[in-house]
Amino acid sequence: MITDRLSRPLGSLRVSVTDRCNLRCRYCMPEREYVWLPKQSILTFEEITRLVRVFASLGVEKVRLTGGEPLLRHDLPALTAMVARIDGVRDLALTTNGLLLAKQAEALRRAGLGRVTVSLDTLQPQRMRDLARSDRHADVLAGIAAARAAGFRVKLNTVVMRGVNDDELVDLIEFARANQAEVRFIEYMDVGGATGWSAEQVVSQREILEVLSARYGPIAPVTTGDISAPAERFRLGDGATFGIVASTTAPFCRSCDRSRLTADGTWLLCLYAERGTDLREPLRSGASDTALADLIAATWRGRSDRGAEERLGVAHRAPLYQVDGLRADPHREMHTRGG
Ligand code: SAM
Repeated sequence: MITDRLSRPLGSLRVSVTDRCNLRCRYCMPEREYVWLPKQSILTFEEITRLVRVFASLGVEKVRLTGGEPLLRHDLPALTAMVARIDGVRDLALTTNGLLLAKQAEALRRAGLGRVTVSLDTLQPQRMRDLARSDRHADVLAGIAAARAAGFRVKLNTVVMRGVNDDELVDLIEFARANQAEVRFIEYMDVGGATGWSAEQVVSQREILEVLSARYGPIAPVTTGDISAPAERFRLGDGATFGIVASTTAPFCRSCDRSRLTADGTWLLCLYAERGTDLREPLRSGASDTALADLIAATWRGRSDRGAEERLGVAHRAPLYQVDGLRADPHREMHTRGG
């Protein structure tokens, strides 16, 4: 097993298959204009599959396809099938905003996708218009229904923002319960792209638990045994479970085994990392699998990133990057890094 300087294994890889998105969520893509990755730099399915195979040979067992919006990538089921066949990949998941899921859920299931997470920040169509500049709320709900009908275990991701959707915690728990899904409330993070972030808008894990226990009574932590999972899970008295990803107020860097591959083959060791390792250049200039594996292993062994914990220590915390910094290097954007 390959471990980094803090003894964290190379366990899970998030693969962003496109930097494009069909939503403009205010916490992620609030601007009117973006600098996109050049088309010719985007990895082909064969290139992605080859890299994932090398990562799997080094111990990566969990792969999550993400973006941007991954379902915008033409024929995602074909890539899914290629990755699902890789030896060692035991858990293949997808994070999507759900807009295009209804049409593809069945094909993704057949291709070997194991799990689906759908971002659902509100149950109110008008609110989605304000929050994500989209009037396609019904398509998200249809996507969730189709995923369930196709046999997926569905998780829902909700970024909780004060004054925006923090009055929907109970409604979302009930929606998840009614749809046999599990909701994960995510603290609003000051990642690249979140140019409107402020500490006041963060609703902390503690506050979320207070609101929910006022409604449901005592809440018990659930111990899953998976210490690298970003969400802490909880159980209500009536048995319903939910998660909280407290990356802003209680980061979990010490157990983080995740890294991220962007659609152009830049490998990032931390969501907050200043820069990444270019794997596209060696890939396209003829490096062998062994050479790629050596580069990845050596880079991981040198990893000491604790980005979220370091952010916690910043006095007068403000957005990580302003628009100019993001335009200068789109790799800094959350939608490029893959959430
Ligand atoms: N388009 C897909 C989706 O919407 O799920 C995948 C990409 S999106 C960047 C992945 C996840 O990142 C989403 O669940 C989103 O909620 C989360 N995310 C983006 N910006 C965030 C922020 N500032 N704070 C917390 N979570 C964020």
